[in-house]
Order: sequence, then C-alpha cells, then structure tokens
Amino acid sequence: MLIFRQLFDPQSSTYSYLLGDGDSGEAVLIDPVFEQAPRDSALVRELGLKLQYTLETHVHADHVTGASALKGRLGSKVALSAAAGAEGADRYLADRERVAFGKRYLEVRSTPGHTGGCVTYVLDNESMAFTGDCLLIRGCGRTDFQQGDPRAMYRSVHTRIFSLPDACLLYPAHDYRGLMDTSVAEERRFNPRLGGELSEDDFVGYMRNLGLPHPKQMDIAVPANLKCGVRADGVHAEEPAWGPLTFTFAGIWEIDPHWVEEHLRDVQIIDVREPDEFTGPLGHIPGARLVPLGGFAEAAPALSRDKPVVTVCRAGGRSAQAFQTLKKLGFEHVANLPGGMLRWRALRQTVEGGSE
Ligand code: FE
Repeated sequence: MLIFRQLFDPQSSTYSYLLGDGDSGEAVLIDPVFEQAPRDSALVRELGLKLQYTLETHVHADHVTGASALKGRLGSKVALSAAAGAEGADRYLADRERVAFGKRYLEVRSTPGHTGGCVTYVLDNESMAFTGDCLLIRGCGRTDFQQGDPRAMYRSVHTRIFSLPDACLLYPAHDYRGLMDTSVAEERRFNPRLGGELSEDDFVGYMRNLGLPHPKQMDIAVPANLKCGVRADGVHAEEPAWGPLTFTFAGIWEIDPHWVEEHLRDVQIIDVREPDEFTGPLGHIPGARLVPLGGFAEAAPALSRDKPVVTVCRAGGRSAQAFQTLKKLGFEHVANLPGGMLRWRALRQTVEGGSE
C-alpha cells in the first residue's frame, strides 16, 4: 500500500509530499518547508514511518527547505539533483536515478528551465509525478532568475512530462489558488502557456514579458537552500526547551506526564473540567487550579506567565482547546497533558481527592 499525503505551507503556498511504503514504513518527503519541520516530523511519527530521504525538486527562492531541520529531528538523509549546485547533501542525484523507499521508488527526471538543476520525481508506476516549479497547474514556474531558461523549460515539459501517460497525476510545488493536482492529459490540452498548439517561440515570448517582482524571501532562501536549509541567520524552528515536549500533527505541544509529576512546583496545572468533575471520582492533580473551559477564554488572560502552564482535563481533548486559547493569547510556555486524568490515573501518579 502506498501512503501519500499532500501538505501545504500557507506562508509560501508550497506543497510538500510525503510518500511511504506501507509494508516497510520507509518514506520520502519532497520539498519540505523549514517552518513546517515540527508538523512534518509529527506526521511521520504518528504514521509510524521511517523517513529515509528529504528530496528537493530544486533550490527554492521563496522558502527555506526543511531538509536539514528534518535530518536533525528524524535522521533522514538529504538528497537533491547534482545539477542544483547545493553543498552538504548526503546524496546527489543524476538523471534517471532511482530513489527507493521500501519496495517503491521515485525516478529522477531532470527538467531544467525554472532553474538549471530542476528535477521532476516520477513514481515507479507512472501514476504520479512531482513537477516542482517546472509545470504548475495551468501554469509554470518563472524563468527569469537562477539560470532560468524558457527554451529549456518548454523542452523539459514536452519531452519529459507530457510524455508520461495521460492519466498520470501531476503535483506541483506551489499553487496560489488552492488547486491541488492535475493530470498530463489536462495540462497538455489546457495549459495556457505550454499546452495545445503553443510553440516554443510562443512560450518564450510569453515568459519574457511576465515582469514579476523577485520573491520576498529570496535573499534568505537561496543562500540557505544552497546549504540544504542551514540558515546563515541562525533561526531555528520553534522548539520549546522548558520540558520534554512532543509536537502533534494536530498542532498541540504535549508534555510527558512523568515529568509533570516530578515538577509540580515548577508549573501551573490548569484543570479545565467542570467543578463536579474536579471534585469527582477521578480527583485532580495536586495543586491544580480549576478554570472550566466554559469561562476559560475570559479567565485566561489573567493567568500568570511566570511559570509554564500545563492544561489538563478528563481525556486531553478539552485541555487541548485551552492550550490553543493560551497560544493565541501569546503564552509561550504552554503544554497539554495528553490523555488527561484518565492516563494520569492509569500511570498511578499522585492524585488529590477522588476514589479508587
Ligand atoms: Fe522555485
């Protein structure tokens, strides 16, 4: 079974693609985004996958790659085209080379034009291809910097992408309208720059007159991506250091219950259940303060910011909502207690009140 997830970074409108082999659990992630490394590693972990490689379709100008950040978190290897000219990768890919994950593989096809080192990754059975910024949905990447070349792009699209089967689904690195995928037959017919009867000269004329401003992130992104996502400005992805926290794909920072029990004096426990639950059979964590979820949004701004906040409820759901509320209010040191009082009790940790 193939595991497939399309992921989106709203800031740069970038798509990242996770492909995994269900039997072995081996996976690859195409075009990860630096800021999304916590999210992406949470998904890999929750799906029980082993990330073998992060793959770049090219050296991006609009976002920093998450390749090095994910390597640090998950031990994945960094791979990209040798022609991309980046340093520090674990593997440099040549045209037609295969990148395996379990029993599946992606074939590398060099598709220069947007940059000199652009590649398209084609799934083993040619049912899917990941085109980067070469072919976009009813569009294509720009060709006016990073060794961009409209003639090369026209030939890449026609000889290496439009030559795939009609039904092959195409997944681009970006879409600015929320469109998610397309097919070879569709783009061959309807792409307004490259499809239908449009010739190479038509395309070159079109591309020479786009007149686009340079991407805002370019001066940060290109140098960092030439080092596989190692940033000169030293910015790291958000990584709280005050306790043993785990980020979930749902967007919640969770804290280890054992650590909480050993550090009750260093944190504020905020219990968001109803009063009758707080005094009911499950009991509550010693020193916990009751702030029911019903009035939480009103009470939350007055909570102290001197100590980290741990939110708790019966099973960890309502307290996750309280976590989100505190995050929106700008509380930096907050975590949810996963599994709530149910798990706390199952772990036989200290309880005040309650019954056996
Ligand atoms: Fe690009």
